Amino acid sequence: MNMITNHMPTAELQALDAAHHIHPFSTQDEIANKGVRVITRASGVTLTDSEGCEILDAMAGLWCVNLGYGRDELADVAARQMRELPYYNTFFQTTHVPAIALAAKLAELAPGDLNHVFYAGSGSEANDTNMRMVRTYWAQKGKPEKKIIISRKNAYHGSTMAGASLGGMTPMHEQGGLPIPDVHHIDQPHWYEEGGDMSREEFGLQRAQELEKAILELGEDKIAAFIGEPIQGAGGVVIPPSTYWPEIQRICDKYEILLIADEVICGFGRTGNWFGSQTMGIKPHIMTIAKGLSSGYAPIGGSIVCDEVVEVIGACEFNHGYTYSGHPVAAAVALENLRILEEEGIVDKVREETGPYLKEKWEALEDHPLVGEARVEGLMGTIALTPNKETRAPFAGDSGTVGYICREFCFANNLVMRHVGDRMIISPPLVISKAEIDTLVERATMALDLTF
Ligand code: PLP
Repeated sequence: MNMITNHMPTAELQALDAAHHIHPFSTQDEIANKGVRVITRASGVTLTDSEGCEILDAMAGLWCVNLGYGRDELADVAARQMRELPYYNTFFQTTHVPAIALAAKLAELAPGDLNHVFYAGSGSEANDTNMRMVRTYWAQKGKPEKKIIISRKNAYHGSTMAGASLGGMTPMHEQGGLPIPDVHHIDQPHWYEEGGDMSREEFGLQRAQELEKAILELGEDKIAAFIGEPIQGAGGVVIPPSTYWPEIQRICDKYEILLIADEVICGFGRTGNWFGSQTMGIKPHIMTIAKGLSSGYAPIGGSIVCDEVVEVIGACEFNHGYTYSGHPVAAAVALENLRILEEEGIVDKVREETGPYLKEKWEALEDHPLVGEARVEGLMGTIALTPNKETRAPFAGDSGTVGYICREFCFANNLVMRHVGDRMIISPPLVISKAEIDTLVERATMALDLTF
């Protein structure tokens, strides 16, 4: 077979891709019929495809390239680490400097007593870890019957059996026999779609109180933990009403339920603080991390765990771990990524400059006849498309058709924006400039006009 390179004609690359590559969350037939866009290189917030088109990536890949593309420092650290120690494990009383240094740095950045890190290769794996860790915690405390984990409908916590079970995505549950036992889903705080006539605040409180109802119905002595993304990302950037998280925190405290904040998207500056938990004012016992931890330059995830949980599980052997837990190259890349985020003041910039700038521009899209709601927190944003702004009614026919059309217009206009049903979402690299935000909003407006 000839060498397959960036220089091959696009059609040949597409044909090989369709013949041999099974894509995640895709219909293979559609891939074969329509072809895929082949991305060949990237720099800053801009992707280049095999036809030489330059595309503004308003999704930071999959919400992960926080630092933007093409940072040589990360490539250099990876090459250096590969030469020095490409692999060693962290099992059986061994460790290495990148794993030690990254854990110490994460303990410094994480709020409160979140001082310990268990490494994984991804966010999904980290949520598997969390499920086993919280159950082990309660078993160690003599309460093995505390096993149930409460999550939310329309949440996303990964694609493994545990991750997808913790998640509340119905299409995922319909494939492969999910959810696994002892996971319970309550309603999400999605005011725009489900709030009816209630005020946002009233609705937020009501949805949080569903947690208390579930605890009482299922039995206080059976609940291990509650898990939630500070802001639901893949569910459509659902920014909860201000009343929601304080009430969830109150309920977790009252019933001594462990609180797991899934920070896979919200972590590492996305919401204008290091962690979404800080933006929402909550104090989790465990935080799930991945994505922005290495800005996607190397696959790494993990759980940042509080002192109390570690004191309890530390008394037993936790029979759990991955070959790549704390992989030295990924850990070294993550550490360098955190160094740059910190030294360049990128998180502060999101909170004080680019976040507010995007908010002003993005929320002005509410004047567009197709937009029912436009919201932003930090550098994650959403717009809800509707045929009727007053009633917030959905479009007739299949949900997501209009969103899909709008996404295709974005793509044709060299803008990557995602759609979740009929919501359009963005999560650009945190290094995006004000001029690039202007371009993003212009292209999004053009796509909205064409969709209208
Ligand atoms: N948790 C959240 C909130 C996510 O958004 C994701 C991925 O999008 C995951 C977990 C799963 O992470 P990964 O895809 O790295 O397994």
